[in-house]
Formats: sequence, structure tokens, C-alpha cells
Amino acid sequence: MSRTQVAIIGAGPAGLMLAHLLQRAGIESVIVESRARDYVESRVRAGVLEYDTAELLNDLGVGERMRRESLVHRGIALRFNDRSNRIDFPDLTGGKTVTVYGQQEVVKDLIAARLATGAPILFECAATAIDAGDEPSITYRDAAGGEHTLDADFIAGCDGFHGAAREAIPPDAITVYDHTLPFAWLGILAETPPVSEELIYVNHERGFALVSMRSRTISRLYIQCRNDERLELWPDERIWGELRERLGSDRGGPDVHSGKILQKGVTPMRSFVCDPMRYGRLFLAGDSAHIVPPTGAKGMNLAIADVRVLAEALEAYYEHGETALLDAYSQTCLRRVWKTQRFSIYMTRMLHRFEEHTPFDRRIQLAELDYVTSSRTAAASLAENYVGLPFESTAGLRKVRT
Ligand SMILES: Cc1cc2nc3c(=O)[nH]c(=O)nc-3n(C[C@H](O)[C@H](O)[C@H](O)COP(=O)(O)OP(=O)(O)OC[C@H]3O[C@@H](n4cnc5c(N)ncnc54)[C@H](O)[C@@H]3O)c2cc1C
Repeated sequence: MSRTQVAIIGAGPAGLMLAHLLQRAGIESVIVESRARDYVESRVRAGVLEYDTAELLNDLGVGERMRRESLVHRGIALRFNDRSNRIDFPDLTGGKTVTVYGQQEVVKDLIAARLATGAPILFECAATAIDAGDEPSITYRDAAGGEHTLDADFIAGCDGFHGAAREAIPPDAITVYDHTLPFAWLGILAETPPVSEELIYVNHERGFALVSMRSRTISRLYIQCRNDERLELWPDERIWGELRERLGSDRGGPDVHSGKILQKGVTPMRSFVCDPMRYGRLFLAGDSAHIVPPTGAKGMNLAIADVRVLAEALEAYYEHGETALLDAYSQTCLRRVWKTQRFSIYMTRMLHRFEEHTPFDRRIQLAELDYVTSSRTAAASLAENYVGLPFESTAGLRKVRT
């Protein structure tokens, strides 16, 4: 275990998906993951898979449970002025849909499939030092405190926003773009059937709300709150009351039924991009390189889009000695990253309440919602982004082989 082709730090969606893509291409990898398997498999985060993300899971042969247990959604509703307005994805995108399937379920499926092949995931092993030079290696500490070194041809930093990989890059070798939004989401996971068949995004005077689900019996519900919100100020009844108010349940809107709250938390809203996403033989992917506000449901999808590009580049390197795709990795990924930031910020600005908004700003916000729900052209743009832009093409970068 002291040498591999690609050392992957992190067993989140990015690291696990990369390992599978590499394995399919006959490239060996080792994953080191700081947390225990149980912890990683029960971490509730994202839940909306873009069309191509779900297709990729199917292509890799790990989509069987997803096909059985997920919910395929053909649209979302944008609700404002106490009226819901549907955006029909298949109609606007030539047949595409999104799949509602919890990130922790994707992670469980990817872990099970990898371990079934005998390929390694070293749980409770935290990367503590990274050498991205000509002879790359990572140092990791196991649960008993023992230190180990893993040599590799390449290192994939898939260790999330607070991981070690980005920290290993000298600050003067990267530019960081950071934008913090002046509010957060108070999110609950609750034992109550979904309010509606599809997600409802609500713009209300009191703030944004999102009605979403993880299954036919579990709902995922969010309300906009302060950045420094204290959870103790939100007993369960206050949360249910606030959701009903923003949904307009007493004014003919959808009614949300209280149920047992299984989890409660505050998610900060942030945009962050690190450019380039490569330093020497270290490649960053997913949240280690970028964060998007969750309004566009893009975080996990973007992580998977990155590793798709990285796997293709590594495959070209190992098969043909080509370095063009590796050299273009950062540029290729960042094109999608910035378009995804744009969409996530667009959705966030259109749907949230901003303290600094004047009555004029508020009217513009409502006009934007009116436009996007009444113009087929505008709705098609939202739908195209929501179901996921096509993966970036790297075909032009490949050398012509003789
Ligand atoms: C609280 C929360 C809620 C979210 N909700 C949504 C949502 O509703 N919709 C949405 O689209 N997105 C959401 N996201 C974002 C989405 O979950 C992420 O974009 C996604 O997890 C990115 O996957 P990743 O593999 O890049 O990183 P991660 O999933 O963060 O995985 C990184 C892995 O690396 C491990 N690790 C960290 N440091 C080390 C180390 N030194 N050594 C070894 N391993 C290490 C971590 O334990 C983790 O398992 C949310 C994120 C958070 C934090």
C-alpha cells in the first residue's frame, strides 16, 4: 500500500467517483479518508442529481439502487406572490429530468461497489502532508496515530473545503475568489411526506423557503435565516409555522404537515473558487476547489463533473503519454465552475430577501420571477442549467494520433 498510481484524498462524491472512473480505465488508486465509514455514509448534504450525473452512475454500473429508490423529477415550482409557477424540464430541455437521491446514498453505493472489487479505501486515515513535486507523496495518520507515506504518480485532492490539499498549495500559486452571502439556510430533515411531487422554491417577504424531499416519507425543508442564526431560537413549532407562512398554507398554498425532525442545521451561503485547480502533480476536485451556494443544487454535481475531466485526462496520460488534457484540466473545469457559480448566484439573488433591498429592488426581483415563469426562452435557460449543462468537451485538446 505504499505506492499507487493515483493517491486520492477524501471519500466524498468526488474522490469515490474518481476512483471508479480510474478503475474502469485500468488505473490503480488508493483513497485515504479521515472519517470512519459510518460517518461518511450518514452525512446528509445534497440530494439533486443532474441528468448526466445520474447517467454516469448508471454507466458505471452503480445506479441499480438509485433507479429503484430515487424520485425522478420533471420540473420545479417557483412560488411568489402566493402562486406557484411550474418549470417543465423535459418540455424545455428536449426530455431531460433530475433525480432526487440523497448524497449519502450515492456515497454508500460508491463505497459498497469499490470495496466489493477489493480496491482500497483507508478510513480514519487523515492526510497530514502533501508533496506535489516530481515524486509526489502523501503522509497520512491512521486512527492509532501511526504515520504512513503513500507514493503516487499523481495526487487528487478531493478532501472538501476544509481539507489538506488546497492548504498544501503556496498562497502565491493560486488566486482565490470568495463571496459570502449575508444570510444562511436553516435546514431540517423530517419524517413527513413531501408537500408536493416536485421541489418548490419560494420567494416571500419574510425570506426564501425550499420544500424538498429525500424519499416518499422524508422531507428536506429549508428557510432563509441569519448568518449567525442560533438554533436554540428555533423550536420545532416555530420552524413549521414559518414554513407554513412562507408557503402561504393559510392562503390556499400547499400545506406542510409537521413530523418528527430528524436533523436540524444551519448551512452558510458562500461562493468560492480557487484558480488554478492544479499545483504540480496535485489536482483539486470538488469542494476543495470551489463552493457554490446551494440554491442551484449544484455542489455535488460540480464535484462529479470535475473528476470526469480528471479521469479522462489521466486515462490519456496512462494510455498514450498525452499531457495536453492534464495541462488543460484547470481551464476545462473552471469554465463549468464559473457558469455554475453564475447560475447559483442568479437563483440565489432571484429568490432570497436581501436586507438592503429598496422597494425598487424588490419590484425588479418580482419582475425577474414573472419573466422567467412567463417567457419560454427565459424558462428554457433556467431549465437547461438546472438539469445540468453538457459536460465540457475536451475533444479539441486531444493530439491527433497516427
Ligand atoms: C452542510 C452542507 C449541506 C449541503 N447541502 C447541499 C445541498 O443541499 N445541495 C447541494 O447541491 N450541495 C449541498 N452541499 C454541497 C455538497 O454536499 C458538496 O458540494 C459535495 O459534498 C462535494 O463533494 P466533495 O467530494 O468535493 O467533498 P466532500 O463531500 O466534502 O468530501 C470530502 C471528503 O474528504 C474527507 N477529508 C477531509 N479532509 C481530509 C484529510 N485531511 N484527509 C483525508 N480525508 C479528508 C472528508 O471527511 C470527506 O469525506 C452541502 C454541503 C454542506 C457542507
